Amino acid sequence: MNLLSVVIPAYNEEKNLIVAAQRLSDVLTAAGIPYELIFVDDGSRDATYTLIREESGRNPAVRGVSFSRNFGKEAAIFAGLKEAKGDACVVTDCDMQFPAEVIVEMWKLWEQGYQVVEGKKSSRGKERAAHGFFARTFYKFISKAVGMDMQSSSDFKLLDRQVVDVLNNLRERDTFFRALSFWAGFKTATVEFEVAPRVGGASKWSFTKLTRYAISNITSFTTAPLRVVTLLGTVLLICSAVLGVQTLVHFFMGEAVEGFTTVILLLLVIGGAIMVSLGIIGHYVGRIYDEVKSRPRYIIAHRTEEEKTHAVDA
Ligand code: UDP
Ligand code: MG
Repeated sequence: MNLLSVVIPAYNEEKNLIVAAQRLSDVLTAAGIPYELIFVDDGSRDATYTLIREESGRNPAVRGVSFSRNFGKEAAIFAGLKEAKGDACVVTDCDMQFPAEVIVEMWKLWEQGYQVVEGKKSSRGKERAAHGFFARTFYKFISKAVGMDMQSSSDFKLLDRQVVDVLNNLRERDTFFRALSFWAGFKTATVEFEVAPRVGGASKWSFTKLTRYAISNITSFTTAPLRVVTLLGTVLLICSAVLGVQTLVHFFMGEAVEGFTTVILLLLVIGGAIMVSLGIIGHYVGRIYDEVKSRPRYIIAHRTEEEKTHAVDA
């Protein structure tokens, strides 16, 4: 009998956890799908992990791990995929913004032989205008980098065991899960779903967090910004050739004292361009540094299974 693992990253989700576990197990039981729910507590500061432990006591299909601190959703997803034992894995959110019924649809597609089932947002839900604009620009970049249209993609997807193993064996630490399933390829299907409003609590994404996420994801998939540096240099070189000729002409005609404004402007433009370019290069160097250190991506502090065996020992 095939097993479905549902991976659920949870960060300060005490308001949603029980509801999510109940809803998922109800839907999957009703559909007759053998399942396990794997909650990954991403270093929550509220009662999230206590609730995971309680839920795993009630329902043997539920287990979970808890990080020593907040490592971010990406780390939580990958920790969940490592823990998962299923023949297929679904990643979903704890706030139930991704409808549980869609998982059943995904499972059916998987049974038909699709190895990746992408959840596609039919609308982007409610968001601020500025947020929407940045999100669209970001997805335009990343779609180009991955070579696929990622405009309405989400972290909600089903992956076959073979794909999960590919992702588990990636050595890079700074990952972008949403794009990696596209990158991996395999036989892919798409299901559309309507993004529901959050059940409880607030979204954990601040504007700064989103910007950092966007930059990190773009640079993790493309070196295009480095090519922009080269392009900038070329443009400046062409300009300097034109200006150079003009300066020499002036010099030989004996009228070389003027043009101080030009000097100041050139200094500013070139100085700025050099610093921005160094910043871009520096960013990639920083990424290399982070990858080379190869620290673990997350630290697991607790596991519900271990605590159960301890309880038996005692
Ligand atoms: N999440 C996480 N670590 C974080 C931030 C979020 O594990 O640092 C989880 C969160 O608990 C939820 C999912 O990622 O299950 C999506 O988070 P959220 O709803 O805040 O994001 P949004 O839906 O607004 O994109
Ligand atoms: Mg959400």
